[in-house]
Amino acid sequence: MLAATICPFRAMRHHLIKRIQRLFALTSLLLILAIGLLVGQALGFIPKDLRAFVDPARFLPQAPQVALISGHAGYDSGAVCTDASGATLLTEAEINARVADLVAQRLRLSGVDLLILTEYDDRLENLTAPLLLSLHADSCVDLSGYKAAHRTNSTVPAEDARLLACIDLHYPAATGLRPHPNTITHNMTSYHAFRRIHPSTPAAILEMGFLGGDQSLLTTGAARVADGITASIQCFLAERGADSK
Ligand SMILES: [Zn+2]
Repeated sequence: MLAATICPFRAMRHHLIKRIQRLFALTSLLLILAIGLLVGQALGFIPKDLRAFVDPARFLPQAPQVALISGHAGYDSGAVCTDASGATLLTEAEINARVADLVAQRLRLSGVDLLILTEYDDRLENLTAPLLLSLHADSCVDLSGYKAAHRTNSTVPAEDARLLACIDLHYPAATGLRPHPNTITHNMTSYHAFRRIHPSTPAAILEMGFLGGDQSLLTTGAARVADGITASIQCFLAERGADSK
């Protein structure tokens, strides 16, 4: 009878010891993980903000992030049209911003992510992107036509030339404008952003038309301007994708 009363007690004690052992093992494991985490963060292998690990964007395929400069944004008004008394009627910066927004809407609908930058945006420094396009409009004179230029001494001349070819194919088709190449200036080919971005990023600057002679297109016809730019960018990206296959 004595043995019969001891056995259940032993069994209970055995279970209790097992549980304590498991609890101890689990606590040790958590402690080791915590120490590993702290050491990893201290050495810079693991980010301090662990929310980055649970950010769903980390696990989604990255859409190509095309960069557009909304010409003069955050800096000045660019070219202006004034009335007889000198009051400003229209600024280049507002045209550029409107078109940049319309292009962004169109590209995002087609699954292309877009970064709209200001004229001297800090993010231009070493910018790596499928392409950078800077949108400008020309002065308020009675001339008509668009101009596109890439940098001189490009490190990706074939890509820059291909971007211009896409613009020359699609921009006049959408807008009805003709190229106005005789007025491409040093300011365009030596554009400041060309020197700041990463050398491997294809880039161009587009003067979308003249605020004077092309005013109705740039204002009431801004959707057509945006269509032409969107088609140019899509042309460049499509050929780029085909090249990398
Ligand atoms: Zn400008």
